Amino acid sequence: MDRQTVKRLPSWLSRKMGQPSALHDMKNILRSRNLHTVCESAHCPNIGECFSKPTATFMILGDVCTRMCGFCSVEKSASPVVVDTNEPHNITLTAKELGLRHVVITSVTRDDLVDGGAMQFALTIRAVKDTISSISVEVLTPDFKGNEKALAVVLNERPNIFNHNIETVPSLYAKVRPQANYRQSLKVIETAKNMADDVITKSGLMVGLGEIKSEVKSVMMDLASVGCDAVTIGQYLRPSMKNLKVSEYVPPEVFKEYKEYGKEIGLKYVYAGPFVRSSYNAEDMITQIAKVDYTDNDDV
Ligand code: SF4
Repeated sequence: MDRQTVKRLPSWLSRKMGQPSALHDMKNILRSRNLHTVCESAHCPNIGECFSKPTATFMILGDVCTRMCGFCSVEKSASPVVVDTNEPHNITLTAKELGLRHVVITSVTRDDLVDGGAMQFALTIRAVKDTISSISVEVLTPDFKGNEKALAVVLNERPNIFNHNIETVPSLYAKVRPQANYRQSLKVIETAKNMADDVITKSGLMVGLGEIKSEVKSVMMDLASVGCDAVTIGQYLRPSMKNLKVSEYVPPEVFKEYKEYGKEIGLKYVYAGPFVRSSYNAEDMITQIAKVDYTDNDDV
């Protein structure tokens, strides 16, 4: 977060940094296995807490993306790194070593690959599930340019949760996600639900980028209409001066309103709060969805 923004952070956006030693240990494990996390690449404010648990969201297919989203601090290039075929094995080893109950696997977008990296997702899910029988697996995937064969490759491995973030409202796509398409992302979630209705579908968006409340509610309605089970809504925080400015710090009561609205329109689970991120406390979601109980995730 740049110095200027820090001065103006509202009271509800102060955060404990977690134990520096835990952060250090986790980073050593990850580097020793040439692994990346979106936690680090996206400068996530929850990293201290999550790495202390420990939990992490592993980022496969390298740490260089082929797209230019305005909110994201991941490195960008038209020629990203060569795919590391050891990633599935190294993620499995690390998940086992950390004793993870739930593992989240995400990636940069690889428009340079024919299948968008779908096979690497499939191999990673399979490796983790084959080795750690009790673990639950969540994938947070790119849109694979709407390629349904690629989606099927991932879903055939039956992750417990299939997540694809819609990120923002349609009117802001040109500024926030210029290479993505709102309707295409909705279609990805709808197709995933049609292909594997036993898999929980999930999506997430950020607020504070210039959207209005009715636009957020309309996105929530669109997600519900394509069979999305769970939605996360969190405050956008500027990761660097190169990224979009924060337009608004959305107060906690508005997140509460989104959660209530989600309940009204039949979404099974809405996790909304200033520090909520798509895989924050992801391990709790499976139990919550089974209970369809909104009450346990207040004020984050
Ligand atoms: S697709 Fe966008 S959000 Fe995802 S890693 Fe690339 S630049 Fe970041």
